[in-house]
Amino acid sequence: MTAAGRFLVRKVAVLGAGVMGAQIAAHLVNVKVPVVLFDLPARDGPKNGIVTKAVEGLKKLKPSPLGVPEDAALIQQANYEEHLELLRECDLVIEAIAERMDWKLDLYRKIAPFVAPHAIVASNTSGLSITKLSEALPDAIKPRFCGIHFFNPPRYMFLVELIATPTTQPQILDALETFVTSGLGKGVVRAKDTPNFIANRVGIAGMLATMREVEKFGLSFDVVDDLTGKKLGRASSGTFRTADVVGLDTMAHVIKTLQDTLSADTDPFYASFGTPAVLSKLLELGNLGQKTKAGFYKKAGRDILRFELESESYVPAGQKADEVYGRMLKKPAAERLKLLRNAQGPQGQFLWAILRNSFHYAAVHLASIADTARDVDFAMRWGFGMQQGPFELWQEAGWLQVAQWIQEDIDAGKALSNAPLPDWVFKGPVAEAGGVHTPEGSWNPTTRRFEPRRLLPVHRRQHFPESVRGSGAPDWRSAGRTVHEDDTIRLWTLDDEVLVASIKTKMHAISPELCEGLQLAADTAEKDFAGLVIWSGDEMFSVGADLQVMLPAFMAVGVSAIEDAEGFMQQTMLRLRYAGVPVVAAVRGMALGGGCELAVYSQRRVAAMESYIGLVEVGVGLVPGAGGLTYIARRAAENAAASTDKDLLKFLTEGFTAAAMAKVGTSALESRKLGYLLDSDVVVPNKDELLHVAIAQAKAMADAGWRAPMKRLFPVAGRSGKATIQGQLVNMRDGGFISQHDFRIASLIAHVVTGGDGDAGTLVSEEYLMTLERQAFCELVQHPKTQERILGMLSTGKPVRN
Ligand code: NAD
Repeated sequence: MTAAGRFLVRKVAVLGAGVMGAQIAAHLVNVKVPVVLFDLPARDGPKNGIVTKAVEGLKKLKPSPLGVPEDAALIQQANYEEHLELLRECDLVIEAIAERMDWKLDLYRKIAPFVAPHAIVASNTSGLSITKLSEALPDAIKPRFCGIHFFNPPRYMFLVELIATPTTQPQILDALETFVTSGLGKGVVRAKDTPNFIANRVGIAGMLATMREVEKFGLSFDVVDDLTGKKLGRASSGTFRTADVVGLDTMAHVIKTLQDTLSADTDPFYASFGTPAVLSKLLELGNLGQKTKAGFYKKAGRDILRFELESESYVPAGQKADEVYGRMLKKPAAERLKLLRNAQGPQGQFLWAILRNSFHYAAVHLASIADTARDVDFAMRWGFGMQQGPFELWQEAGWLQVAQWIQEDIDAGKALSNAPLPDWVFKGPVAEAGGVHTPEGSWNPTTRRFEPRRLLPVHRRQHFPESVRGSGAPDWRSAGRTVHEDDTIRLWTLDDEVLVASIKTKMHAISPELCEGLQLAADTAEKDFAGLVIWSGDEMFSVGADLQVMLPAFMAVGVSAIEDAEGFMQQTMLRLRYAGVPVVAAVRGMALGGGCELAVYSQRRVAAMESYIGLVEVGVGLVPGAGGLTYIARRAAENAAASTDKDLLKFLTEGFTAAAMAKVGTSALESRKLGYLLDSDVVVPNKDELLHVAIAQAKAMADAGWRAPMKRLFPVAGRSGKATIQGQLVNMRDGGFISQHDFRIASLIAHVVTGGDGDAGTLVSEEYLMTLERQAFCELVQHPKTQERILGMLSTGKPVRN
């Protein structure tokens, strides 16, 4: 730490280049933190061999741990034999070697002399005692040692559990939480040093409990996954497919930790922790899930098969749950749980049983594993992809009523353990408040108080952090002062300085009404505010123009309706680009088609690391028609102007290809490579900091005397450029790489981005290119093959290839 107490992370060392270590190193590179990745020296060949292989592996892994694959080269490679000196430069050391106490302790002894005197040392162990690990460290390092438990895959999983030992200095944990939150973009939960910490303890016990109930009710894996996925508000892969994705060996490992470190005395549910027979069989067969291409499920050509224990073979899968349960699961929580509890069929009884087990387990263990009920709920949401944690759901369904049902089941011997619910469930503040989450805070059974969230300065960067139901936290949909609101948009402000425009349409689709709202936003911001930020608190920026609106208009009125709508969208984009105040797009998740156009016509973009930006119109047989192609042509001209090489076509190729192939960036970094983000745009690791950074950007731009760009003409590649591109397209079509309709669309894109049929170097305006764009768009919308693509997308959500 610096003298002022700030923990500045200049470089991180990751020890262990296995599944987790290599991916953690990749994520550090994603967020621009220099990293050195260590492993054992290879026996043969170059000593860094193990690390080199791991780094190469990162480029092939799916989903990609890297924002852009070439950044793998930024990971510095090292081994313990030659490079321990490098540790001295590191402010944070994350150990992620194999899960063996003796190996970890050996390594700690080896590295201790090289650890910088201020550095934090943290272990990514999933199950070993952090306190026991700490005991092997020299006294000088002990206060700076703790657990840092990432979830796989670390780039995508929001949860990081931090675990202190009795000797960890509190300010060390605060410093680490600050870095992990803002620097790595994660949601931190502090866990107690108990086996498997919070999420895996509750989550894996829950999976084991679920497998028991599956056996009891005689259900098949496909039906269970249908019931326990999205319908139940959990990860869409349900129970068994999730296990396949995680890896059955990894699952078995975590289960073993539960079996080895707990006992019937320390966990009253211990009897249900036995490895299920089917899991043992699959492990014995070496069917470890996705990585071995067979686990609970297996793919055979286009078919999905499921494992059947009795015959030890794979049989056709794809069975769905009874529809009645799908309907029940959509009911409000109180009614839902009542219906499930009273259900006669095995599927309904199964659902009630697994929910009851999860409430029962969480309540019995809360005091020993976590500080508050909020930490358990967040851990289950962020580490296991649940929409709601167990306490939230229980509270929403009616605390005392559900508690009584659980107790009745315990008394009737139906629960997995006869451990009674803790007394605080029925008596005192929780019972009086109707649950564990209140505006005052969440229940801590040890202090017997509702405790507010621990607030560090870094949390002030989150205007609307994730919150638990019942906490009364402000909702971004209604917070601040509303200036205007209709069905498509809310214009509001937090500070009376910057206007925020939040899109409200489904998937933030762009309709003519929304364009009116955006124009109003620009008018209002110019009149009364210093800047405008386009931001919403949910998971996407915008999926683009509303085809649902567009197609009926076309059918009823004809192509003129489409031309008007496109023209209006284009004007809206120009209105934002030339607004008299800075307009900042705060992008997160998908920004596709018109959503991408909205982002690139804003004057600056602040993008969450997980932003997926692209012009995808080709997929529905169209060309980008709200300024997307004009943007590509203009950027090419600007890039050529800034370079000594004035050959416009070279600068056009990437933008053309991105649009013609409907490429979408798989991260903010890749979106930048495609040209949809600029170097001057800001990438923000933590989604919850996006609004803060966007507002700060708008203010800084205004403060620096920002003015909109001057309207100017720019050169296009002209006929000759178009002919060159078209030559390549002919080859692709004749070689069978693209269909005739793809060829038609790509030719139109080439036509627009090269400025039509003028000479190379002709100066054009944005409006002129937008006219070409509209014409191309309207030509295509009348084509039967395009209509087939649109209708296909609207009915199945999947692109039609024709
Ligand atoms: P892994 O088996 O993929 O990798 C372990 C690495 O440790 C290997 O690269 C290996 O070369 C190295 N190693 C083995 N023995 C060593 C020794 N004696 N000294 C130094 N290095 C040695 O393991 P993983 O799945 O990446 O797990 C690493 C750690 O992260 C474990 O503590 C595990 O509990 C934890 N963890 C794993 C997951 C997961 O899903 N895999 C999730 C969270 C935490």
